[in-house]
Amino acid sequence: MKSQKTADISREKSGKLFEKAKTYFPGGVNSPVRAFKSVYGSPLFIEKGDKAHIWDADGNEFIDFCCSWGPLILGHNNTDIREAVIANIGNGLSFGAPTKLENELADLILYNNKYIDKIRFVSSGTEAVMSAIRLARGYTKRDKIVKFEGCYHGHSDSLLVKAGSGLVTFGETSSAGVPKSFADETLVIDLNDTEALTAVFEQFKDQIAAVIIEGVPANNGLLLQSKEYIHFLRAITKENGALLIFDEVITGFRLGFEGAAAYYDVQPDIITYGKIIGGGMPVGAYGASNELMACISPDGAVYQAGTLSGNPIAMAAGIATLTTLVQPAFYPTLNATTAAFVADLRAYIATKNYPVKIFSVASIFWFAFSELEQIQKANEIQAESMELYKVMHRELLNRGIYFGPSGYEVGFISAAHTTEDLEIAKKHIFAALDLVFQ
Ligand code: PLP
Repeated sequence: MKSQKTADISREKSGKLFEKAKTYFPGGVNSPVRAFKSVYGSPLFIEKGDKAHIWDADGNEFIDFCCSWGPLILGHNNTDIREAVIANIGNGLSFGAPTKLENELADLILYNNKYIDKIRFVSSGTEAVMSAIRLARGYTKRDKIVKFEGCYHGHSDSLLVKAGSGLVTFGETSSAGVPKSFADETLVIDLNDTEALTAVFEQFKDQIAAVIIEGVPANNGLLLQSKEYIHFLRAITKENGALLIFDEVITGFRLGFEGAAAYYDVQPDIITYGKIIGGGMPVGAYGASNELMACISPDGAVYQAGTLSGNPIAMAAGIATLTTLVQPAFYPTLNATTAAFVADLRAYIATKNYPVKIFSVASIFWFAFSELEQIQKANEIQAESMELYKVMHRELLNRGIYFGPSGYEVGFISAAHTTEDLEIAKKHIFAALDLVFQ
């Protein structure tokens, strides 16, 4: 018997809010992916969240695997974070002057992370990466940077660049409004390709300031790189006097407290953070050795500043979050929970022989509608497979399971997801896959 699509949930109130929002914001949203352009229906307006659950304006309840795109590793409305924020709000929201809370968050991070000596707080991941690139250019006195097709590093001009065709290409702008001259300073190559890396350093000898890579590329599917490749990347950058920037906006404090640097056992030159570091508040950061950080203003000549940088309420949320994450059992428990969840999904898929893979690392996972055993490069993802994701996404929403509104996005598990949440989610994912592949 054919599986029936579950009846659509009501989106009446969300729909009305969206119509109104379209009169205020381009596309009705303040960040494009929220517009649900890649899935069925209009966006859900979320009213509240608690632990692993969220509720929309129509009163629909969901188990949330988007988790605000990663920051909420402790789930929604976490008691410690809420209390820390409330305790500090009464002291004032912002001073534009140093506060003790900045020291406390920095101390928590630097004491428990051997890969950076000093840190600078900013207000978003984009800002962190943009500043890291400037630092690399200022330090090396070179202009070119190398990025990988399929890695996202925020929306600064130098990084809104995609590959042309060929092994090593000057980037082509991936957004209107980015000057071609910026794109000309950004070289784009494929992931997991040692030949391309070798070629880029041969062709642009002594011109490359830095190579930037996501700790684990997780913005365009989950493109797990081999440890050998990451070590090759480290070696070749060092040999050529270029810096290695690990963009750990997703992987920082997610793969473990020391993120992808520890996961791969590699020492990057600069590391960027975002998302989890602010516990759901707008915080980004970049860190490096004392020598590199001495280049940053006011000590050095690389200028970087921010009115709301190190905002006390955001620092308080970050401290409450990271205080939980440094507990020795935190990551082993969360990662084991995720591994068991993913293993059950894989087992079901195997019994049904469905052409879908689940790639996963730590508490991140991604459904790839593909027969390939490994997907390590952006061009190995088939665009057509996103049609299958759309069907799954709608069915899951109708069944009370919330995933990001694009098949290129990963899912996150938080410490607030209970065994019961995950059992319910599995049952609905099985049913949604049955519908997709019937
Ligand atoms: N770098 C990575 C790896 C990201 O995943 C993101 C956002 O998703 C960014 C940078 C940009 O961060 P933000 O959206 O906070 O500006």
